[in-house]
Amino acid sequence: MSRKYLYYFTEGSEAFHGDMTAMKNTLGGKGAGLAEMTAAGMPVPQGFTITTDACTQYYTDGRQINEAIQKDIFEHMKGLEKITGKTFGDINNPLLVSVRSGARQSMPGMMDTILNLGLNDESVEGLAKKTNNPRFAYDSYRRFVQMFADVVMGVSKSLFEDEIDKMKAEKGVKNDIDLSAEDLKKLVVIFKKIYEDNEKKPFPQDPKEQLIEAVKAVFRSWDNPRANVYRKMNEIPYEWGTAVNVQQMAFGNSGDNSGTGVAFTRNPATGEKKLFGEYLINAQGEDVVSGVRTPSPISHLQDQMPAVYKEFTEIATKLENHFKDMQDMEFTIEDGHLFMLQTRNGKRTANAALKVACDLVDEGMIDEEEAVLRVEPHQLDALLHPQFDPEALKKAEVVGKGLAASPGAACGKVVFSAEDAKAWAGRGEKVVLVRLETSPEDIEGMQSAEGILTVRGGMTSHAAVVARGMGTCCVSGCGDITVNYDKKEFTLAGKTYKEGDYISIDGSTGNIYGEAIPTVPASISGDFGRYMGWADKVRRLKVYTNADTPRDAKQASDFGAEGIGLCRTEHMFFEGSRIKAMREMIVAETVEDRKKALAKILPYQQGDFEGLFETMGERPVTIRFLDPPLHEFLPTKEADIKDLADDLNITVQKLKEVIASLHEFNPMMGHRGCRLTVTYPEIAEMQTTAVINAAINVTKKTGKKIVPQIMIPLVGEVKELKYVKDFVVKTADELIKKAGIDMKYEVGTMIEIPRAALTAGKIAKEADFFCYGTNDLTQMTFGFSRDDAGKFLDSYYETKIYESDPFVHLDPDGVGRLVKLSATEGKAANPALHLGICGEHGGDPSSVEFCHNVGLDYVSCSPFRVPIARLAAAQAAVKEKRAKAKK
Ligand code: ADP
Ligand code: MG
Ligand code: MG
Repeated sequence: MSRKYLYYFTEGSEAFHGDMTAMKNTLGGKGAGLAEMTAAGMPVPQGFTITTDACTQYYTDGRQINEAIQKDIFEHMKGLEKITGKTFGDINNPLLVSVRSGARQSMPGMMDTILNLGLNDESVEGLAKKTNNPRFAYDSYRRFVQMFADVVMGVSKSLFEDEIDKMKAEKGVKNDIDLSAEDLKKLVVIFKKIYEDNEKKPFPQDPKEQLIEAVKAVFRSWDNPRANVYRKMNEIPYEWGTAVNVQQMAFGNSGDNSGTGVAFTRNPATGEKKLFGEYLINAQGEDVVSGVRTPSPISHLQDQMPAVYKEFTEIATKLENHFKDMQDMEFTIEDGHLFMLQTRNGKRTANAALKVACDLVDEGMIDEEEAVLRVEPHQLDALLHPQFDPEALKKAEVVGKGLAASPGAACGKVVFSAEDAKAWAGRGEKVVLVRLETSPEDIEGMQSAEGILTVRGGMTSHAAVVARGMGTCCVSGCGDITVNYDKKEFTLAGKTYKEGDYISIDGSTGNIYGEAIPTVPASISGDFGRYMGWADKVRRLKVYTNADTPRDAKQASDFGAEGIGLCRTEHMFFEGSRIKAMREMIVAETVEDRKKALAKILPYQQGDFEGLFETMGERPVTIRFLDPPLHEFLPTKEADIKDLADDLNITVQKLKEVIASLHEFNPMMGHRGCRLTVTYPEIAEMQTTAVINAAINVTKKTGKKIVPQIMIPLVGEVKELKYVKDFVVKTADELIKKAGIDMKYEVGTMIEIPRAALTAGKIAKEADFFCYGTNDLTQMTFGFSRDDAGKFLDSYYETKIYESDPFVHLDPDGVGRLVKLSATEGKAANPALHLGICGEHGGDPSSVEFCHNVGLDYVSCSPFRVPIARLAAAQAAVKEKRAKAKK
């Protein structure tokens, strides 16, 4: 049977037995929602969905909609004519539709919608006559020309906006709705002229051509740069494609008994259980979110149209009960009749996500395990970062107030464009992006900013929605601000702020401060604490942290770290007088001199380790021995070389010889890791002494059983590990014997060279644990260095050779295969072997899921990612449990 590419809204729910996941995969999120609402008997303007498979087919066919699918589309239009009693292309009673994109996951503002499609020079007259409302007819037509030109042909929106502004100025009116039918009729002529000037052909009059071009444009938009950026940010696979919905129009712009709005069943900023939304009378589509007029809060609808309000609240409740989650809905009122246009699980802030999850459990709607799946691990990040210092906040002066659009505290220098935000942040500056309003092309800049402040737009404006999605602080709609983009300054409460001036904004209150306010760290308590408790209950993977200092270890502990998976000892060599001793060691010519220099480092190292053991108590602390090539410890600038030579009491000539001898063509693959200790075993002896003595001291002092974990880096051959390990064991055993205490310790290795992974069965015989250093393992498996990959990875994304950065998301097919294979063979050879990961991937949710699935014992990540990893580990466990239950 040939594939079914189109579904009427009336068919979807039954065809997929109400399975939302299956429906979303094929019909997209929007199509699935429309089908479910239709099945539930809600008032939905009817239409049909062209599936995501049709989108894939469009790309397979070389960006063409093939004849069979085109034919199918027109047949469905015939079907829609029957349902609506109107005829597509009819002059007197035209069927008008919207063409809407809808991917599996909502991609806000990423793809565009065309409304009022089907109008042309003749039918606009027919519509005016039939409805006796020429203003409405021409308003619909001018919107259609504008959207079609923008979405299908890429003619800049601003060309049209400028003409509207001109017309408004001419007429001396403030709002679009104050323009008369005649004005709008003139605008239509001007708009079509703009179209023709840009496209060198007249505006298409054939509705069938309009429709096919619009559907193509939606398919095409799946591959536009904005969509690609969003997809990469959110790990949405390119192959998914988008569906297209063709839907009869409901007209919110037909007069004062009509309107359009958006609403959430709960507050998306705080989670409070109360209908939350906005609407505009006599408006259409994006008017509410674009900020052309300031919308009214949904509660006003109760007075303005009580019956509609009642019907809407009942539907909202029904939808929430049906989907068992907070819903984000779009509706339109046409001549007093309510129409539902969209429902989906609403995007929300991290705070709101936690509150809603806890409330839904308390309301008996979902259980704890389901709740665990309800918060995006990445979202927690927003809660882990500093809040304003309450003391400093008390003293700070509020200079303005906007809407509390996305919570959090942001303090930074003012910039006025997304490009500047990106560039400044790239230089390490903290910035607050100040805009009249934001639009989808600003997305990267918004991501770079600490916070976003807009002059226009409500709680559901682009800026607000996107900021909440990213967990970035946002204050929107502060109409008191006057921005001057040319001069790069804004004025608020009589004061002018220039680019580079500090401001602070509070996305939880909407307050704006004309100064820098210090911030304080966050803590895990309240709903957050309760929620993390549920996550900890179900997860199997342990979560450790990468920490080099007691301060980091403490931070990670506060965030729930159960051990240290990676302590990099080289960082400890760079401070103050240590670096000098280190350099003495490097230039030493004899073993004796080297040992002398190392002896100077020993007490510092030992002190560092004592600090870590004291902080972590009996939780495992894994210490990796010296890893980087030695030249990293020597200066490169002429003046520094001279100073150092004087310092070390050797000639500049001699020092330069040492530096030259340490030069490497490819330091990533050079004299580093355990290769250093094979050449200079005394380094391993010193480090072992520091670790073991520290453990002995802390054991004696605290009575706690410390079991230090010594980790040998960059092993590729079992004999290499054995050689270094023998020095470690000999040194350690002597010290422990001398101390006369019973202390255990472990020696393990990193698996970060493909050869180590491939010979894991042998290596496991000499190792107590494996820890996957997936940064190096990824570099060595792909054969490119992380630091150079930036130069070419962009072309790989553009050409879809790679969809995501393998240094961010663990590559399951290659690197992952090495992990899986070595974990299996390692465990088979040594059943007591324990397994973990300590690369950047340890804090990346999809990589954590992979680690769970291949049976690692722990993931280790930077302190601020610990809660994220805890939740990701819990979600992996729940997903696995459910998959098993299904079988
Ligand atoms: P997005 O995914 O960007 O929200 P939508 O497809 O939901 O895009 O449409 C954009 C706007 O147009 C929304 O406000 C929506 O409610 C409105 N809209 C879409 N289809 C129709 C329709 N058939 N009748 C009236 N308004 C519509
Ligand atoms: Mg849109
Ligand atoms: Mg929408």
